[in-house]
Amino acid sequence: MKISILGINDDRYKRPLTLIADLFFEETELVLGEDASSDLEINFAIQETDSLFFVNGKLFEQSSSLEMELVPSESEKDNFRRKKQAISNVYLTLLQEYTGMIQKWGILTGIRPTKLLHSKLQQGISREKAHQQLREDYLITDEKISLMQQIVDRQLQVVPDLYNLQEEVSIYIGIPFCPTKCAYCTFPAYAINGKQGKVDSFLGGLHYEIESIGAWLKEKGIKITTVYYGGGTPTSITAEEMDMLYERMYNSFPDMKQVREVTVEAGRPDTITPKKLEVLKKWNIDRISINPQSYTQETLKAIGRHHTVEETIEKFHLAREMGMNNINMDLIIGLPNEGVPEFTNTLEETEKLMPESLTVHTLSFKRASEMTQNKQRYKVADRQEIGQMMSMATEWTSSHNYVPYYLYRQKNILGNLENVGYALPDQDSIYNIMIMEEKQTIIGLGCGAASKFIHPVTGKITHFANPKDPKSYNEGFEHYTREKIRILEELFFGAGYQIVNKK
Ligand code: SF4
Repeated sequence: MKISILGINDDRYKRPLTLIADLFFEETELVLGEDASSDLEINFAIQETDSLFFVNGKLFEQSSSLEMELVPSESEKDNFRRKKQAISNVYLTLLQEYTGMIQKWGILTGIRPTKLLHSKLQQGISREKAHQQLREDYLITDEKISLMQQIVDRQLQVVPDLYNLQEEVSIYIGIPFCPTKCAYCTFPAYAINGKQGKVDSFLGGLHYEIESIGAWLKEKGIKITTVYYGGGTPTSITAEEMDMLYERMYNSFPDMKQVREVTVEAGRPDTITPKKLEVLKKWNIDRISINPQSYTQETLKAIGRHHTVEETIEKFHLAREMGMNNINMDLIIGLPNEGVPEFTNTLEETEKLMPESLTVHTLSFKRASEMTQNKQRYKVADRQEIGQMMSMATEWTSSHNYVPYYLYRQKNILGNLENVGYALPDQDSIYNIMIMEEKQTIIGLGCGAASKFIHPVTGKITHFANPKDPKSYNEGFEHYTREKIRILEELFFGAGYQIVNKK
């Protein structure tokens, strides 16, 4: 779909308008100016004075307008953000009318909707006013606003000091190996079989990172809120390797007793053994994930997960018997050849297990995945059926006492929906809240681990990523560790900010 936009010449509008068009059409191309080959032409008329911004848009016979007051004292950046919002608002209204498709998230294309609500509440804006702004400025539907509010409330119940954790950090540890690669996956997930040399060198680097960062945190008196092992599949290494890794963590990190939660994604059921579960128990790992994704065998085969449905169930029971009392399970809506009947089956099977938490993803076509590159091979449900399955998930979780506690969106997600984490009372993952709401620094260690440094005062985010492939990681882990410590020094002890009450 090629869309030409008339009346706007500023290139800064191109990307946001393209992202909105992508919500309606596949592979949108957007041109600012006349283009004879375009499929749609949208005409904007903009009038601006010192105190007013007026925008009118026309698409065929439809027209939409918005008038907004400008604040003369505002910075150029804030001023532009507000104008962009007004133009996007008119543009979305026209496209909704033209296609008959309602975007429940309105013009919001970012991935963390609840962060927006938190920030409004933190600024002292009342709930009603904040909701009104989400409705009018972003065109978010009441259904999604109420989901956002429910999640924000729950998060503040689980982490009452959420707005005051900026002087602590959380740790993410990435283990980049899996038994096989799933078709929708873009995480660093290298086949583990026959690569022991590679695994050994990787773990050597990881131990070094844990030790060095742990020593820095101890020296500076900075506490850890949560630790999360992801990947890859952190249980794809051997039980002995897991044992040594957790021992290193306990010896290196400050005050492990005060850490609120340690999670290990056991993700693939085919990696779980009684020996590994013993190790998890030995080191008091609070929470694990065992991810079915689907309970239909053909689907697992189609997406390259080499384990059976029975194995998922069997490993879940084994983990329970061995004392794991906080188990998360991930489900995906919209897997190839899956519709309402398959998802009904998935929910029925879930009911028999009742894990403490459930993360319901909607399939997203990530550019680098096998599935996206060979899209024609995978048949997925249409928008309406995806929406229906999402509603089933919402109703099912609510009638089974699960409460939504975090949500995020992705690009190219089916039906422009979202991923939602649900938990039974008091079983929510604190790490998931920390990573989504960006209220504190998360230090990433290991392969493909992305660090997010959040300035304790300004909230400014600095990203830093370790390499995704084990070879580059093995060659550079010392450098990446040094860089992180340099950024941490600057963040917590630099000119702009000195941590109080710290050594
Ligand atoms: S188990 Fe997870 S990390 Fe591994 S390939 Fe599958 S989706 Fe990717």
